[in-house]
Amino acid sequence: MDAGDIGQMNRMKFATTLREPSELVAQGLAPPADLADLERIASRYAVAITPELAALIDPNDPSDPIARQFVPSRDELSVDKSESADPIGDHAFSPVPGIVHRYPDRLLLKLVHVCAVYCRFCFRREMVGPGKDSALSEDAYASALNYIRTHPEIWEVILTGGDPLMLSPRRLAQVMSDLAAIDHVRIIRIHTRVPVADPSRISEDMVRALKVDRATVWVALHANHARELTVRAREAVARLVAAGIPMVSQSVLLRGVNDSVAALEELMRAFVECRIKPYYLHHGDLAPGTAHLRTTLVHGQTLMAALRGRVSGLCQPQYVLDIPGGAGKAPVGPNYLRSENSSVTERDAGQETRYRVTDYCGEVHFYPPRP
Ligand code: SF4
Repeated sequence: MDAGDIGQMNRMKFATTLREPSELVAQGLAPPADLADLERIASRYAVAITPELAALIDPNDPSDPIARQFVPSRDELSVDKSESADPIGDHAFSPVPGIVHRYPDRLLLKLVHVCAVYCRFCFRREMVGPGKDSALSEDAYASALNYIRTHPEIWEVILTGGDPLMLSPRRLAQVMSDLAAIDHVRIIRIHTRVPVADPSRISEDMVRALKVDRATVWVALHANHARELTVRAREAVARLVAAGIPMVSQSVLLRGVNDSVAALEELMRAFVECRIKPYYLHHGDLAPGTAHLRTTLVHGQTLMAALRGRVSGLCQPQYVLDIPGGAGKAPVGPNYLRSENSSVTERDAGQETRYRVTDYCGEVHFYPPRP
């Protein structure tokens, strides 16, 4: 029996998406003693684990990296004072419902507030899930489109949410066509977890809905552990790529999930094998009750430096921090270049100075080699 057969057997154990803590306990995915606490957590932050992902969890492994991402934990009851309900400042940059316009040439369009699975570390955990805001109303959608239409600087629209691939292919086709009809919108990027959470949703109809003539469509896949890229997930990705849709990845650096060089290496290699270019590795955001899943920035930098020595440039994501409050993303990876002369000023920038450059083994060299 191969891994695909075992995955199929495990999937059959889970007929439907697990949404209640009592179901998690019944399936052996959470301890019975935690039930009351998990119910408190679930009343605030949505729970959903699709059969595809539930089948990947080893219930006998208390530190299973898939379970850590989706099974609620009592640790979520501890909220750190640095954490916030809107950690990356979406609200401050939302001129009309559904739009977050933070950078000059691009904006987010949040069409739905539901996802196939709910990640325990989600930075929008206060905004997503059943009972939170639902899909944009027709009027709100029309206002959002009008905002995009009247801002000619918008070159790229990023569909996020919630997960835009939770929409029906018919609705999605309409949205894609509405956006592509706006002359200055040249790129439509879709952020999704659906190809790993529920690969069967990436049907021929869904792929067809994503194809538009007048704009280039990119899909960014969110996955954090190589095990998420199952045979079926890889087939779903292949359907998108075969249709001519380029893909990039985004992952979150998570303690106990992928905070080792080996786990990151395996994940990044898996993306590239699937024809997905690693794009972002996000430092964990300060979402409420998520401290147990965050690493330190120093640890993230150490991992990135180690990754550089081990895997091809194709497999290197950019390690980024979303600055709390809405100031946007900043690259926070290790610094390989230091000036010999720390007093170099803008005025001197036209003249070459001398630098210390660190190679992938950690050895320091001078550039230029001789003064
Ligand atoms: S899929 Fe994205 S929006 Fe949905 S819960 Fe996970 S991180 Fe949050």
